[in-house]
Amino acid sequence: MIYDAIIVGGGHNGLVAACYLAKSGLKTLVLEAREVVGGGAVTEEIHPGFSCSTLDHAAGPVSAQVVADLNLARHGLETITPEVRVLALAPDGRSLCIYNDAGRSVTEIEKFSANDARSYPEFVNSFSRIGRVLAPLLGMTPPSIDQPTKADLWQLGKVGLAFRGLGKKDEYRLLRWGPMAVADLVSEWFETELLRATIAARGIHGAFAGPWSAGTSLGLLWQAALDGSAFGSAFTTKGGMGGLSQALAKAAKAAGAEIRTSARVTQINGAYSDKPTVVLEGGEEIEARVVVSNADPRTTFLKLIDPIDLEPGFLLKMRNYRAPGVVAKINLALDGLPAFRGVDEPAKLSGRIHIGPEIDYLERAFDASKYGEFSSDPYLDVTIPSLGDPSLAPAGKHVMSIHVQYAPYKLRQGDWPGRRDEFGNIVIDKLEAYASAIREMIAAAQVITPLDLEQKYGLSGGHIHHGEQTLDQFFTFRPLIGWAQYRTPLKRLYLCGAGAHPGGGLTGLPGANAAREIARDFKERKI
Ligand SMILES: Cc1cc2nc3c(=O)[nH]c(=O)nc-3n(C[C@H](O)[C@H](O)[C@H](O)COP(=O)(O)OP(=O)(O)OC[C@H]3O[C@@H](n4cnc5c(N)ncnc54)[C@H](O)[C@@H]3O)c2cc1C
Repeated sequence: MIYDAIIVGGGHNGLVAACYLAKSGLKTLVLEAREVVGGGAVTEEIHPGFSCSTLDHAAGPVSAQVVADLNLARHGLETITPEVRVLALAPDGRSLCIYNDAGRSVTEIEKFSANDARSYPEFVNSFSRIGRVLAPLLGMTPPSIDQPTKADLWQLGKVGLAFRGLGKKDEYRLLRWGPMAVADLVSEWFETELLRATIAARGIHGAFAGPWSAGTSLGLLWQAALDGSAFGSAFTTKGGMGGLSQALAKAAKAAGAEIRTSARVTQINGAYSDKPTVVLEGGEEIEARVVVSNADPRTTFLKLIDPIDLEPGFLLKMRNYRAPGVVAKINLALDGLPAFRGVDEPAKLSGRIHIGPEIDYLERAFDASKYGEFSSDPYLDVTIPSLGDPSLAPAGKHVMSIHVQYAPYKLRQGDWPGRRDEFGNIVIDKLEAYASAIREMIAAAQVITPLDLEQKYGLSGGHIHHGEQTLDQFFTFRPLIGWAQYRTPLKRLYLCGAGAHPGGGLTGLPGANAAREIARDFKERKI
């Protein structure tokens, strides 16, 4: 049996690509290494009766176009959008709640600073206007730098026109903000440290960078393009983030795609020729007309392809593609809902909970990772998903999901297996400073280190976005300049994961964009 397309990896982008390819009539097979599909978007039992989104705890959000095209609601997708985006905690017991509703946020900000409350609406509106101009870039294939086609120029022209429509003030802001350090950007708008740090956190989320690193404002602009806000979204799905993957898997199967789990690909052969094959652990070899990799670029080109198949210059560039992971994840099964100091309404805990009260705190947390050490005062992005979806834990009990930065993949002293407990204790100590009774409530804890992210979840270097999302690995440069159109130097190999434009986060867009290009190549008989 020869498939039209074999997709290596059943992450959410692989599944999105499978849906679109199968819908366009191509015989499609997804091969997922793990026993469960979803990649970063999985829900797993962490303790009897307690299920948690093991890795991601809030989606990009997922592209509305993808949700509609694939009819995901019909395949069981139920979305949850809490009113609260983020609750930021300060060590003195004060807290600042940012809602989706700007008016409610202003009332909260007023408790800290009248100036900041005045600035906030314009900040929100400016990001929303700029986000609307950037949004079309997410769903387009980055243009070729060397030989832009008419279609490329047309697409860019449309974005250029929208840019001109922004007006002078926002045009200037957009051009100026991208390369800026996010610490500078937020300081221009606000005087409250807690607010500055909460916004700045979006610029460094998942990045080997601190708020004073150049280019970190890009993260805010990209978030605005995704959903009109500079704050990270708190959008999630019923059943945890695995609910998204399950709906995608159903949609893919309904469209005719086959999905095999516990099917690790060890080699991609002959992708330069007309007869590419993939080899599975155990030796089975399967033929296809094209292979589409949802694995990250380093895994794809440095582990699955024989180096002899690649030109040395390309290999060198790929070896220089940066993917130094700095994130660890801790998931807790809790005997009850912890009380956070100064937080009077449990509803305020329903979005993200931000711990990292000052810009300098975040920067110092990053400093440690530069020298191969995990932060002794880490930045934490916490959610309690069972508040929005009680089915995740037994009645009255909860699960807590903790994204921890910074935890460098390479430790200077010792190794991750030997230092796992020490690291876990630092994080719980930090939480205890805000929720004093939490330690006694822990029924079970799961600590996922960057090494686990590589070994168990297939993320090279433990990088959560399949590689840094800096200006030099962005848009027409993602993953490499000249190869940002989902095609690769190997004629019958494509990329469809977060290492391709528009990058990481649960959006489904790399998968959708890649499928469009692949289907076009089939239609135009280029393959
Ligand atoms: C700890 C953590 C927290 C995160 N938090 C968030 C968040 O809150 N919100 C958000 O939007 N994003 C978050 N992200 C980022 C998000 O998970 C990724 O951007 C997203 O998962 C990328 O999706 P993908 O389908 O491209 O790749 P992945 O989800 O990485 O999926 C790739 C799939 O390929 C499989 N695979 C790899 N190699 C092989 C092989 N050789 N053979 C077969 N299969 C293979 C893997 O097992 C995996 O299932 C987080 C990531 C991590 C790790």
